[in-house]
Amino acid sequence: MTYPTQPTASHFINGRYVEDRDGAPIDVIYPATGEVIGQVHSATPVIIDQALDAARSAQAAWAAMTGTERGRILRRAADIMRERNHDLSVLETYDTGKPYQETSVVDATSGADALEYFGGMAATLTGEHIQLGEDWVYTRREPLGVCVGIGAWNYPTQIASWKGAPALACGNTMVFKPSETTPLCALKVAEILHEAGAPAGVYNVVQGLGDVGAALVSDGRVDKVSLTGSVPTGRKVYAAAAAGIKHVTMELGGKSPMIVFDDADVENAVSGAILGNFYSSGQVCSNGTRVFVHKTIKEAFLSRLSERLATAVIGDPQDPDTSFGPMVSERQMGIVMDYIAKGQDEGARLVYGGKRLDKNGFYLEPTVFADVTDDMTIAREEIFGPVMAVLDFEDEDDVMARANDTEFGLAAGVFTRDLARAHRVAARFEAGTCYINTYNDAPVEAPFGGSKQSGVGRENSKAAIEHYSQLKSVYVRMGDLEAPF
Ligand code: NAD
Repeated sequence: MTYPTQPTASHFINGRYVEDRDGAPIDVIYPATGEVIGQVHSATPVIIDQALDAARSAQAAWAAMTGTERGRILRRAADIMRERNHDLSVLETYDTGKPYQETSVVDATSGADALEYFGGMAATLTGEHIQLGEDWVYTRREPLGVCVGIGAWNYPTQIASWKGAPALACGNTMVFKPSETTPLCALKVAEILHEAGAPAGVYNVVQGLGDVGAALVSDGRVDKVSLTGSVPTGRKVYAAAAAGIKHVTMELGGKSPMIVFDDADVENAVSGAILGNFYSSGQVCSNGTRVFVHKTIKEAFLSRLSERLATAVIGDPQDPDTSFGPMVSERQMGIVMDYIAKGQDEGARLVYGGKRLDKNGFYLEPTVFADVTDDMTIAREEIFGPVMAVLDFEDEDDVMARANDTEFGLAAGVFTRDLARAHRVAARFEAGTCYINTYNDAPVEAPFGGSKQSGVGRENSKAAIEHYSQLKSVYVRMGDLEAPF
């Protein structure tokens, strides 16, 4: 099968595509059919070396450019990404299986937003002047150096751009390793950045599994590591980065709560629950998978939810009418099916879905469990698939304690018409991103990231600049200098 905008080799290093067939092959599998649609090769030590050397060599000259010049390149890349949105969306759909209906409005578009936002900000990055009597200090905002980005498979274009844009705006260079499950899209991000004028070596992509990621993280040429992945991987990468006292950003997993109070607009709450559980077939880190619904509206909520789920168009993800696609891989589908079986074994009430669809590809039905209790496995562990757990509650204090009773802290949502309660609940949530009467928005203007074990640092917004730059203080003495002897 051929598809538009197919990358021409496995890696992108020093401004060009590079192939090295000595690396172990990695099949690219189209989730909608299970067919192998391409192959890349894992980076060998030689390739890893080339990529890190390229990034190291390019960094000083890139940082020496003015912010305006760097920003212009990023903004040009944003324009190219938008012009090619259709082709990039088709590729994203082949890489991930997510419906074109989603990829055409979320992936390259949000990548372009990040390039445009941080491109615009590059010229505004400054230090400050601090007066100390007649002496003074000035600070210089400097890049960290070479950054390594490591991606998950659910949003390959977005993750490659969300890490690359602020890193490059601040004068760093990057070596990005996509997930082995979705290796294609990041290559297009690199290609576009270089077409837009990024000098060779500024943004590089290498393929591979965890071993390649680990080799990058522990390399002495690397100054910062930004991972999007699961908590167990986060622990390993954080520990490896700590050995070299490297800067980190960790965007990890979640088991986020969504609370629907009895005064909520039920139709909106159902929309929030659908967006927060079934978009991208549930493969979204911030999903609100523990849906606490007030007892008095539970049955109304469940019946409306089931009615609306029955209108999901499940099928060929390249068809623009399809609104629900396959899981990313057979492996992930198996993991989710095991959780569905656990939900049934532990006594949750299956109210919708629960089965694999009888067709090629890795399709599961959108699945809803009700009467879920806090101790059940499906209420405690991140499933990363289209499985919603509905739990009952009656009292605000009680539901807050239960919502926060998790090691994760990525996101949380509340549906209510009571303004004071909405803000009180948002303040009490132990989570990095909270939603009031909406769910899963992630605009580039707002900080995004987790608290507790869901992460360290923030992506997007002005906050990301703090994670891709460092301040140098320069003390300036205007008069003579006294010393004790
Ligand atoms: P994963 O943790 O299995 O892999 C993530 C990446 O880390 C992959 O590229 C993988 O090759 C690499 N990796 C694995 N072991 C490594 C090691 N020892 N050293 C360096 N790199 C290593 O995650 P996944 O299955 O690809 O993605 C799903 C997870 O990602 C979920 O937990 C989800 O919540 C999380 N996620 C978080 C966010 C966020 O922004 N917080 C966004 C998307 C996904």
